[in-house]
Amino acid sequence: ATPTALMVGTGRGAKMGILIKNGEVLEKVNAVDTVVFDKTGTITVGKPKVTDIIGDKKQVLTLAAQLEASSEHPLALAINEEAQAQKIDAPTVSNFQALSGKGVQASVDGQRAFVGNSRLLEDANIDDQLQQQMEKLQKEAKTVVLVGQQQQVIGLIAIQDTPKETSEKASTALKSRGLKTIMLTGDNQQVAQAIADEVGIDDVIADVLPAEKADEIKKLQENYSVAFVGDGINDAPALTTADVGIAMGAGTDVAIDAGGIVLVKNDLRDVDTALALSQKTFGRIK
Ligand code: ADP
Ligand code: MG
Repeated sequence: ATPTALMVGTGRGAKMGILIKNGEVLEKVNAVDTVVFDKTGTITVGKPKVTDIIGDKKQVLTLAAQLEASSEHPLALAINEEAQAQKIDAPTVSNFQALSGKGVQASVDGQRAFVGNSRLLEDANIDDQLQQQMEKLQKEAKTVVLVGQQQQVIGLIAIQDTPKETSEKASTALKSRGLKTIMLTGDNQQVAQAIADEVGIDDVIADVLPAEKADEIKKLQENYSVAFVGDGINDAPALTTADVGIAMGAGTDVAIDAGGIVLVKNDLRDVDTALALSQKTFGRIK
C-alpha cells in the first residue's frame, strides 16, 4: 500500500478507537490467521467473585484473606472483598510470598500456609472428597483455589468471572472470517474449556505459567501468523512476541506499551474491525 493509503487506514482506525502504532502493524494484521486471547480481563470482565467456600467456611475464608491481603491478583481481590462483606477479621501474616501463576504463601502461627492451585502443593494432601468437589466446581467454569496449612488442604474457594457480553460475538466474527481462535491462560484446563465453550473459542491452552505464555505464542508461530490479545502486566511478553499484539485500552500501561494495536473502547469485536480495515487498506492496491 502507498504511504497515503496507510495513513488513511490508521487514521480510520483511530476514529473508531482502534489505535494502530504504524503502517507496518496494519500490514501484518492482514496476514493474521490465528487470534489468541488472554482469559481474565480480556475474554472475561476481570472482576471475579467468590461463589462457594468448601470446608469450615469461616476458618477457610479467614486464612485465605490473611494470605491474600498483600496480593493484587484479581483472585485475591475477590477473596478480600468476600472477607470484608462477611466482616472477617484477618490478622497480618509474616514472610508473605507471591508465586506467579501459582498463588501465595506466608507464615501463620509459625507454619507455612498457602492459597493457590495444585502447583503450590508439592507434597501437601488433599482428600478425595475435596478433590471431587474441586472438579465439580471447575466444570461449572469456576476457578478453584486450595487453602491450606502445613501439609493439609483445609478447604476450597471457588471464584467465578463472567465473560464479557461482546466476547461471543467477537469470536463468531473472527471464525466466520476463517480465523482460528485460541484461549491462553494460567487457569485450569476444565475452567478454561468451560469458558471457551460459552463464548465459542475453538481451542484452549491452559495451565500455562505467566513466563511461558510468550513461548506458547512462538510455538504457534511455527505454523500460523498470530495475533495475541491481552490486558495484563503478565501479557506484555506475549504481546511483543506475537506478529500483532493487541492490548485492551483498559489494560495495564505495560500491556498498552507492548501492543502494536490498542482497543480504546475495550470492545473485543474491534479485533475483527481491525482485520477488516487492514484488508480494505491492502486490498485496494492489489
Ligand atoms: P491468568 O492466565 O488467568 O491471568 P494467572 O497466571 O495470573 O492467570 O494465574 C494462574 C493461576 O494461578 C490462577 O488460576 C490461580 O490458580 C493461581 N494464582 C495466581 N495468583 C494467585 C493468588 N494471588 N491467589 C490464589 N491463586 C493464585
Ligand atoms: Mg488478563
